[in-house]
Amino acid sequence: METYERIESVIHGFKLSSLTYKRVMHLLHEEMKRGLCNKSHNRADIKMFPTFVRALPDGSEKGNFLALDLGGTNFRVLLVKLNGKDVDIQSKTYLIPQRVMLGTGIQLFDHIADCIKKFITEHDLQNQKLPLGFTFSFPCKQEGLAKARLSQWTKGFRCEGVVGEDICRLLHEALHRIKINSIEVVAVVNDAVGTLMSAAHSDRQCEIGLILGTGCNACYMESLENVGLWEEDRDHPNQVIINTEWGAFGDNGCLDFIRTEYDRELDNFSINPGKQIMEKMISGMYMGEIVRLVLERLAMDELLFSGIDKESELFIRGRFYTKYVSEIESDNDEFFRNTKQVLDELGIENYTSEDCKIVKYVCTLVSARAAFLSSAGIATLINRLKKKTMTIAIDGSLYRFHPRFHNLMVLKIRELVNPGHKFKLTLSHDGSGKGAALVAAVATRLHEKKIA
Ligand code: BGC
Ligand code: MG
Repeated sequence: METYERIESVIHGFKLSSLTYKRVMHLLHEEMKRGLCNKSHNRADIKMFPTFVRALPDGSEKGNFLALDLGGTNFRVLLVKLNGKDVDIQSKTYLIPQRVMLGTGIQLFDHIADCIKKFITEHDLQNQKLPLGFTFSFPCKQEGLAKARLSQWTKGFRCEGVVGEDICRLLHEALHRIKINSIEVVAVVNDAVGTLMSAAHSDRQCEIGLILGTGCNACYMESLENVGLWEEDRDHPNQVIINTEWGAFGDNGCLDFIRTEYDRELDNFSINPGKQIMEKMISGMYMGEIVRLVLERLAMDELLFSGIDKESELFIRGRFYTKYVSEIESDNDEFFRNTKQVLDELGIENYTSEDCKIVKYVCTLVSARAAFLSSAGIATLINRLKKKTMTIAIDGSLYRFHPRFHNLMVLKIRELVNPGHKFKLTLSHDGSGKGAALVAAVATRLHEKKIA
């Protein structure tokens, strides 16, 4: 076999036809319906959790809120001042050490409470009563706006004693342990929901929120009549945001027909094997590692980096970051400046231009599959919602920094949606801060209306 044919045989699994993506869409829609339906919900992988967020902001929201953002690359505490269309945000990022991410729930929430204490002291807010919107980017079964039980950890977190517990209670208890009584958690918000809320603040046609970051997830506005799980009142507004948690799509094996050997290996070595199968094919926590596994195979088969040292960092798990994929794909000429810089950082010596070309090619295939799978998901929602025009609000490091993700998605969604749908993909800012504060504010508004 020619070299290029041998390379093709290593990577062909990442090239999927439109027919295949349509099959994925059909499966996804079936799984989504199973999640929404009472009878099948418990066994369904895609949980389709009702969020208790039933109205989008109308621009009249007011007040000062604290917000927490937990579950992405950074942990942040934010102070959000809403005043009609004006939004002022001050925030600070804190580190969560890995031993805390994999420790006990008490340690995690004590750490969070400590960070909040530092923040309110620095901003001189100790004596103010402040409502807090908690952007908690993990699957939760919500029993109210401020009552959310963790259904499972995802991404890099696995703290003991939290699954099944109400995370608002855990946070309140931790705050009380350090004598903070002025803060009340009024809403738990998934980051996808925050992203949708934040964009809907200025765009009335926005009904879908998507996260393409460390993890992957989507949410959308659904009519209550389709939500079998809804047990609360059905008065106006007759709708609720559904947090799909579609990252778990494929956990029952239904995506096995498109998974490659690299996807399987990545999953085997993850902290949650068998879980979050779709997320592992898309999101930033995993993409770099998939590329690394392919490069490793090509190097072992002597199709790449001839004579590479067996001790090379290329062979270390987790050493190839997803940001490298974005950097490498940003090379637009024959000089491969970024690609070379990455290879230098990995300590790879004596690579050729041909090697650079192959590395870039692998990145392109892996990221395109991620963009196309996300597109299949979004197209499924667009077809389901049947609106003529719709905006999809997107946030996350992968979407922000990858040079072609947006364009790839526009093309693919256009190909996959039923005729007659117009759509727009927009970057949403500060979903986790502004979005969480808006949820808290809208909840207050609806509550006041009901009393009046
Ligand atoms: C979580 C979602 C979250 C997504 C993006 C997934 O791992 O399950 O709740 O929205 O990551 O942060
Ligand atoms: Mg985030």
